[in-house]
Order: sequence, then C-alpha cells, then structure tokens
Amino acid sequence: MFALIGHLTSLKHAQAVAHALGYSEYANQSLDFWCSAPPQIVDNFHVTSLTRQTIEGKYIESCFLPEMLTNRRIKAAIRKILNAMALAQKSDINITALGGFSSIVFEEFNLKNNKQVRNVELEFKRFTTGNTHTAYIVCRQLEQASAQLGIDLSRATVAVCGATGDIGSAVCRWLDRKTNVAELLLIARNQKRLQTLREELGRGRILGLEEALPQADIIVWVASMPKGVEIDPEILKKPVLVIDGGYPKNLGTKIKHPDIHIFKGGIVEHSLDINWKIMEIVNMDIPSRQMFACFAEGILLEFEGWHTNFSWGRNQITVSKMEQIGQASIKHGFRPLLG
Ligand code: NDP
Repeated sequence: MFALIGHLTSLKHAQAVAHALGYSEYANQSLDFWCSAPPQIVDNFHVTSLTRQTIEGKYIESCFLPEMLTNRRIKAAIRKILNAMALAQKSDINITALGGFSSIVFEEFNLKNNKQVRNVELEFKRFTTGNTHTAYIVCRQLEQASAQLGIDLSRATVAVCGATGDIGSAVCRWLDRKTNVAELLLIARNQKRLQTLREELGRGRILGLEEALPQADIIVWVASMPKGVEIDPEILKKPVLVIDGGYPKNLGTKIKHPDIHIFKGGIVEHSLDINWKIMEIVNMDIPSRQMFACFAEGILLEFEGWHTNFSWGRNQITVSKMEQIGQASIKHGFRPLLG
C-alpha cells in the first residue's frame, strides 16, 4: 500500500473545502484552529497500471497551510508534517510521497533529526519527496510544449526561477545534458547557492527576476513561494512559454494573452480512471486522471516494488534517476500534462 501526504493552498481554500465536504466545524475556523487540527486519512482508492497491476492507496491531509510559514507558527507547520508521516507509518504504508510543502518543510527545518514522533520512530526509507519524477515531468513538458509551439530550443533562453532548489537544480541538469538549449538564466535569492550551481553546470547566467523575465523564451517556475507573484505581462517576450510548477502556483497573475502560453507544471495524466475524490478538491481539470507528479512517484514506487526513499535530501537528483523514473512513468501509463 502507498500513501500521499498533501495539503491545501491557503486558509481560504481549506475553509471552502471543509464546507464542501460537510466538515462544518472546520469551515469557519481561523488559522489557529488549523494549527491544532490533527492529520486525517481522507481518501482510500485503487490505481491500475497499463500493465493491469492494481495497487491500493490512501490520501493523508496533513492540515498544514502555507500561512503557517511564519516565525510564530513554524512549530505548528513542523508538527503537521511529522504527525502526518507518523500516521502514514502507523497505517503500515510501504511508501509515502510528501507532497507540496511537506518535503520543503522537512528539508528546510532538518526534520531528519526528529525521528521520534511520540511512540513512532520514523523510518525515512518509507518516504519520498517525489521530486525526481516532478523534475522529469517539468522537463518533458518543456520539451513537448516548446515543440508544439515551434520554439527551437537551440535558440531559446530558458529562465529557471527556483534554480537552486531540489526540483530547479534537477531541471537545470537535464536541460544542460539532455537538450541543446541555448542559454540558461538562473534565478533564486541566495547568491552562494547560485554560484555553486553555476560552477556545477559550468554555464548559466545568474540574474534577478526582473532582469531575467524579459529575456526568456521559456520560463520555468519552481520556487517555494507560499503565495504567487504578480507579473506584468507587458515585460514578457512574445511568444513565451511559461511552465508553472509551484504549489501553490508561483504565478499570481491570471494572464490572458494569445502569445503567453502558461502550462500547469509538474502535473501528469494517467491513462485510466482512479476512484479518488481528492483531485477534485485541488481543482484538477480531469480529477479522475490528473495529479501532481510527486504523488505519481509514490504510485510508481509501489508499482515497481521500489520501497525506498527514491527522492531524498536536497539537490541530489541525477539525470539517470530522472530517466529511470521516467521509464516507469511511461510503462505504468502516465504522461506529462500539456496545456
Ligand atoms: P526547494 O525548497 O528545494 O527550492 C525552492 C527554490 O525556490 C530555491 O531555489 C529557492 O532559493 C527559490 N526561491 C524561494 N523563494 C523565492 C523567491 N521569492 N524568489 C526567487 N526564488 C525563490 O523546493 P522544491 O524544489 O522542493 O519545490 C519547488 C516548488 O515545486 C514548490 O512550490 C513546491 O510546492 C512545488 N512542488 C510541486 C510538485 C508537483 O508534484 N507538482 C512536487 C513537489 C514540489 P532561495 O531560497 O535562495 O531564493
């Protein structure tokens, strides 16, 4: 059995979902209430592969919200993630994917030093961040969408916002080694980490967001922003391909322009329906088939019997591991979402 640990994108989203699901006691509550709410298993379902193998899964809502990422509430955020992991382990799950901010909080606050959660000693090999599959899917979306739009990668400048992150650095490695992309623009705040990445890649220009965006033919957003940024569409090149892989979405602006092509990054579509309710709640267009690529990694590890933390730690994702999970992804019937 596998599990997915997820969370909603904001307090407003959480209140609306609680209302829709009939949890009236949660629907009008403030952030303080959500800080004390325990994790819950809210969905049980089956997934069938193209190979006809069927596996069983559970969805664990951690009750974490991005608004908890403040000094005052960070302890609550940490508790949410550890409690959800302990619940997965107590429920005898073989492999659990840490969705969205779960793995970011885990890494940022070094939670590997917090193995003991009450009477549960966490076994980290039962968890994966899902970031290898996410990075692979973002790269395949970039390759396939640019071909669709007639953008020639050998002449294209690609800006990666969140380049030094776990997913961003993997995307840069893939673009450098597997494509003939003309130029890479590396965007993040910490200059030291940017320099280290540039040295590893042996290429890439380090630029601020405002300087980079007008130069880019393709923009990949994989920054850990608790709220999306508003950008002025006027400053962007036309045409431009934007792959927004953030959860919550990195792009706050709802841009409607015929030459600005925005794709939902890090999302996969499965070939067969899945009997879960959870993807409706996170507003997937086809909830029975579409999901976050990190969740799909948990599913793939269960299908393949790779009960190990396939994606773990920061900035250790190799191109060969992306290829390995990519092959499993195709074999079991997933494809990158285009559009
Ligand atoms: P990391 O924490 O490893 O990396 C985040 C990156 O964003 C770093 O480079 C960080 O650098 C940069 N960053 C953060 N804030 C800003 C900012 N204001 N401006 C510019 N850069 C910024 O995160 P992950 O790689 O694990 O995840 C990245 C995103 O992908 C998140 O939004 C996450 O929720 C989403 N995600 C999506 C998945 C899916 O299945 N679709 C799966 C997993 C994650 P610095 O701090 O130096 O600025």
